[in-house]
Amino acid sequence: MKAERTFGFDTRMVHAGHIPDAATGARAAPIYQTSSYVFYDADQAADLFDLKRYGHLYSRISNPTVAVLEERLASLEGATGAVATASGMAAQFAAFMTLLEPGDEIVASSHLYGGSVVQLTYTLKKMGVIVRYVDPTDLQAWEQAITPRTRALYSELIGNPRGSVLDIQAVAGVAEAQRIPLIIDNTIATPYLCRPMDFGATITVYSATKFIGGHGNSLGGVVLDSGKFDYSHFPAIAAPSPSYHNLRFFDTFGHYGFLMKVRAETLRDTGACLAPMNAFLLLQGLETLSLRMEKHVANALTIARYLEAHSQVDWVAYAGLPSHPQFDLAQKYLPQGAGAVLSFGLKRQGSEDVRLRSKRFIERLQLFSHLANIGDVRSLVIHPASTTHQQLSDEELEACGVGADLIRLSIGIETEEDLLWDLEQALRALSS
Ligand SMILES: *Cc1c(COP(=O)(O)O)cnc(C)c1O
Repeated sequence: MKAERTFGFDTRMVHAGHIPDAATGARAAPIYQTSSYVFYDADQAADLFDLKRYGHLYSRISNPTVAVLEERLASLEGATGAVATASGMAAQFAAFMTLLEPGDEIVASSHLYGGSVVQLTYTLKKMGVIVRYVDPTDLQAWEQAITPRTRALYSELIGNPRGSVLDIQAVAGVAEAQRIPLIIDNTIATPYLCRPMDFGATITVYSATKFIGGHGNSLGGVVLDSGKFDYSHFPAIAAPSPSYHNLRFFDTFGHYGFLMKVRAETLRDTGACLAPMNAFLLLQGLETLSLRMEKHVANALTIARYLEAHSQVDWVAYAGLPSHPQFDLAQKYLPQGAGAVLSFGLKRQGSEDVRLRSKRFIERLQLFSHLANIGDVRSLVIHPASTTHQQLSDEELEACGVGADLIRLSIGIETEEDLLWDLEQALRALSS
């Protein structure tokens, strides 16, 4: 039954993609913990494999619990559809594998999550894909890096690690003029704070591990398509596909062609599908996304202001602060808040090594958890220079925007005063 009303974000967050289970009436989305599905008859089996009929045949390709998450996220994003994957890395990889052929090129922002840089620079290179990095804030750089073999522009909306905000509408204009899909990793903002497709993005990818799941208990990812890009001249989607008996995905599935290829070929061949149990846990988290994000961003803004005013703090990078170079873009694209991930540096004091000082600070924190993740309901802290980026020299660190002094915080939903207390006691301990 089609509802006679366009429902709001919060309603779709708890209802979209699921009606009570027809067999049992179960209200919560059941966990369909099954690898395979009995066919009604031989014709149905053949039709399912031939993509002539919609249904589940094997959980590497699709699963009913995973499908609820996919449809819900597509609804929240304003996308034509979604394909869920085992992790955020798997989501990006699936998007690239579906669009690119050896010799193709990607123009990518240089302000990316570390794992993405490695995937693009090394793993995609093994497949003959060339990646050109640009300063995401330099529109001309995007234009100039495009060649006739460019098949995707790639950026995070809120970039790592300095919180740079992409002028998505402007970059989408460049992509549209050149008929190239713009792919946005919107992990840090979530569809609650910004829907990149409203500003011209073609495809969005998420690490659902972070704010979407929100509880630090499951990995997952998702690829979504706006359905508005004309793939009719895009070789990988329009040309006959030898790995699916020369199916033409665009001719056959139209605006859904890209996602059909992601599912029927890339997920089939890479196997990086989302487990039903994880889909259930991510759905559970997703149902409170807006409530959590309101608290995440309120806490983050308070903490960013507190740190910026603190005598021991050298600098703070958070796009919600007027001091941030993309504050105006954040006001435009992220009016409800610039996310809950921020970084800052401690002032140097005497001859103490700034890495040691940063480590001492982190060890003094009592409420913040020291670990490699973001987007948990709990507040998190990490010092990239001594952990994730440990192998790099000071010069290399500066080049990728991670100074030796950079401390990254992911602000949780705890009581604001308790987080301020924790930071204050750790900062005070530094001078003693
Ligand atoms: C964590 C993260 C990823 C990778 O996601 P996983 O779920 O850890 O594989 C990609 N992009 C961004 C911005 C992330 O924070």
